[in-house]
Amino acid sequence: VIRGHRGGPGKIDARLGRAERLLAEGSVAAAPLALLAAVLRHHQARSSDDVVRAAAARSASKVDGNLATDHFPLLELEHLAGVLADSMGVAVAALIAHGSDMVPEPLADAGREVQGWSAAEAQELAEVWLDDPSLVEPRLRFWAHVAGAPFLEAAAVGARLPPPDAWRGGACPLCGGQAQVSVIAEESGEFMGGSPRSLVCARCATWWNFPRAVCALCGEEDPRHLASYVAEGRRVVRVDACETCRGYVKTFDLREEGAAPIVPLVDDVATLTMDLWASEQGFERAVVSIAGV
Ligand SMILES: [Zn+2]
Ligand SMILES: [Zn+2]
Repeated sequence: VIRGHRGGPGKIDARLGRAERLLAEGSVAAAPLALLAAVLRHHQARSSDDVVRAAAARSASKVDGNLATDHFPLLELEHLAGVLADSMGVAVAALIAHGSDMVPEPLADAGREVQGWSAAEAQELAEVWLDDPSLVEPRLRFWAHVAGAPFLEAAAVGARLPPPDAWRGGACPLCGGQAQVSVIAEESGEFMGGSPRSLVCARCATWWNFPRAVCALCGEEDPRHLASYVAEGRRVVRVDACETCRGYVKTFDLREEGAAPIVPLVDDVATLTMDLWASEQGFERAVVSIAGV
């Protein structure tokens, strides 16, 4: 059993290993998992790059001060736009080099468009994505993520997080990114007696505490408007849906049977059939998984 924040900041190996095992087991989501594995291999290579490490360190330099003054997000994102813009072409080249069948054609087209951009155009995309990824067109968001996530994740490694009562937001306290999934920890009442539920950042992999019975998208607290759905009695993963905003978040319950090997950011991609089901019920997902474009 993996303890702690499975596949959290800096644990790219854990995510890649899980993706490879799911592929070897013959997952129904083979193509998206193969794309995710390619992205993770690129992220692994970038995480030891000097430019990435230096920019990440600058971006994390004021976390403690920002925490003391309740200044969120805690990272200094404006330091990253230039280096992220410079990295965009590298990211496209690295993924497309694996062969055109790895990257779906619409994404590859968008990647080639990015490669042809001026520095100013790349800088603008970087700034918007850092500020609010939901404002970026999905195909360009994919490439911004491939290029930008290594900076944010490297900055998140070892960064101090707010205590559970100081941050109850649905966005990442460190980088301001959106939650990709939600997780119920294997043991309740752990660290500082906080809520056993966490949200997991789609771009820096940080886990932060979030109340159990609240919609992570709109803050709805009325249980009459919140419902959970599981597939065929498999309680380890569920769709937490909200009638008020018609949104949903996928939640992994690590106390349930079959949870031992789960790495939430990866198993999210492997459980795409639940997203199809939720979408058929008219629920919308705010953050599609990296490979769900
Ligand atoms: Zn984050
Ligand atoms: Zn809601």
